[in-house]
Amino acid sequence: MISFQPGQAVSHAYILSAASPEEREEESVSLAAAMLCESEGTRPCKQCRACRKVFRGVHPDVIWVDPEVKEHRREIKVDQIRTILADAYIMPTEAEKKVYVLRSAETMNRSAQNAFLKLLEEPPKSAAFILAVGNPAQLLPTVRSRCELLRRNTEPEPPAESALKDAEDYLSACSEPSLVPRLRWCRDHENDDKETVQAFLQAALVLLTKQLGGEPILPKLSRGEALRQTRRMEQALEYLRSNVSVKHLMGLLSVPSDHT
Ligand SMILES: [Zn+2]
Repeated sequence: MISFQPGQAVSHAYILSAASPEEREEESVSLAAAMLCESEGTRPCKQCRACRKVFRGVHPDVIWVDPEVKEHRREIKVDQIRTILADAYIMPTEAEKKVYVLRSAETMNRSAQNAFLKLLEEPPKSAAFILAVGNPAQLLPTVRSRCELLRRNTEPEPPAESALKDAEDYLSACSEPSLVPRLRWCRDHENDDKETVQAFLQAALVLLTKQLGGEPILPKLSRGEALRQTRRMEQALEYLRSNVSVKHLMGLLSVPSDHT
């Protein structure tokens, strides 16, 4: 469980990454309590008034934000972020600050993330944020760079073999000087379903992270290309989340990465 040591500084914004929704919920409560705990020792102490209220779900300064559900799509809308923006300047009721917990923060659409970014850039002194996510890669890099990342200790599910194979094939095709292999790969995958493509993109990010970390997974892939592909895969995940079709996505992935 997430906790702070005595004297450990508390950031104003955390990305809390955990694979299962139950873990995210549990850790969000614990982190919110740790941020408001009045103890001099390890926080959350679970004993003080603030901790007890947070764990009971009745602390007035812990504000939970849920995605809106419409036609089976879950989304945190820009209006919800604007509401937070206005509320964040109102003084907390009893704690030193208000803690906003965004459940499934990765469901913020692009305009919501951009609005949220303004809040992160100039946060009111009395506001702090927890972005609970399954996969931090789905947040904009600009949002990620302004938050401290906390991961639940459990290892994330490793990508499926088939997704890793797709990722390896695509990235190998991108290491070729000729455009033909990648065009062919993209054409062969333009009828894949959304879940398959999402798994492929996430597997590609796993491979690219290893490659950039010094593991020669794809010997022919240059560092520059690996960096560009990382940005592209993150962008593609974002597009997929905004319901861009797989066909369009394959069109994007078929052009050289230095052209996007
Ligand atoms: Zn406490």
